[in-house]
Amino acid sequence: MPKTPAPIAAIATAIAAATACAASNMPLDRVAGELALEEIENTTNIVTLADGTNTVVLHPGYRRMSLNGIAVWLNSPAEADFRKTSRLSGGDVTHLLKPILDGIRCGDATNIPPMRVFIDPGHGGEDAGAISTATGQNEKDVVLDISMRLGELLVDSGCEVAFSRTNDTFVTLAGRGDMAAKENADIFVSVHANTSSRGEARGIETYTLAFQGCDSTSGDARIAKKSWPANAFDAESSYLGFCIHSAVNTERGDADRGLRHARFQVLRQAPCPAILIECGFLSNSAENASLGSPRYRQRLAVAIANGIKAYRASARVAQSPPPAANPENAPAKKQDGNVGDIVAASTENTAAQAESQDK
Ligand SMILES: [Zn+2]
Repeated sequence: MPKTPAPIAAIATAIAAATACAASNMPLDRVAGELALEEIENTTNIVTLADGTNTVVLHPGYRRMSLNGIAVWLNSPAEADFRKTSRLSGGDVTHLLKPILDGIRCGDATNIPPMRVFIDPGHGGEDAGAISTATGQNEKDVVLDISMRLGELLVDSGCEVAFSRTNDTFVTLAGRGDMAAKENADIFVSVHANTSSRGEARGIETYTLAFQGCDSTSGDARIAKKSWPANAFDAESSYLGFCIHSAVNTERGDADRGLRHARFQVLRQAPCPAILIECGFLSNSAENASLGSPRYRQRLAVAIANGIKAYRASARVAQSPPPAANPENAPAKKQDGNVGDIVAASTENTAAQAESQDK
């Protein structure tokens, strides 16, 4: 009898419930219970939960934490009240950390389902994306090449693959989500490269859609109360994002900028679990040189493919509910609350971004 992947029930339950950041915060003992971890350290600055294989390290007052050594940003900061009882938002427990741990624990399924991957190389045509001021290297060219390599690797591993573009053409942001829906995509993977006014900024960032009611990871004070269609896939996107981010950072071995959360249009309108990966900074001379190298692009593509394979091996492909089934989840329109997210979503300390436009 084929082994049933464990996360299915957890993910299905998670989908049924609306994710809301404002959900009541859970005290640490309940968090540990939900995550099947034990509290092994609890000081003012650090709280560690573990089960012998997996380790969650929280920092009261901060959003950045780590799960098995990989940086993950909570949708809401870990809290510690005056009695030093740490708390986490219920949404982060049930839709971020639990799906990831469930996915890791279930291991490889023997009956791996088919999966249709929609690869979205960012920008294209008149939209060059980020441009290296030192060499003129364009983001649109770099991410197209990484994406084509990724597609080939995924086809070789038995996935079906569709693209938003396979050459230097312009595709609207809204069009990308529509294409993924038409292609019946099981997952949506958007590939970008980053830029910053700080030349030293470097590393990989992987984004999932911010939970309803939560700030993006920039710490922007503006809050988007709206639930976007893709918020229906928060739990699966969390696990997919972790699989990819973990695989890429394990391959690189440094400058882990974390699994983050934003409201980029392609994430809001994705018809399935979705992530956006920033493959490094064109504004950093070393990373710009690496991103210009076919060998490095292949390494990145292999790592992203490995992350997708890990997701596929331990989580059943989502049976996507039709977007906009709920009137509150009407087709995404631009609203004030998103602009700040978009502007500030790239990284902390990187105020002036060539990538400040939506994506
Ligand atoms: Zn971009």
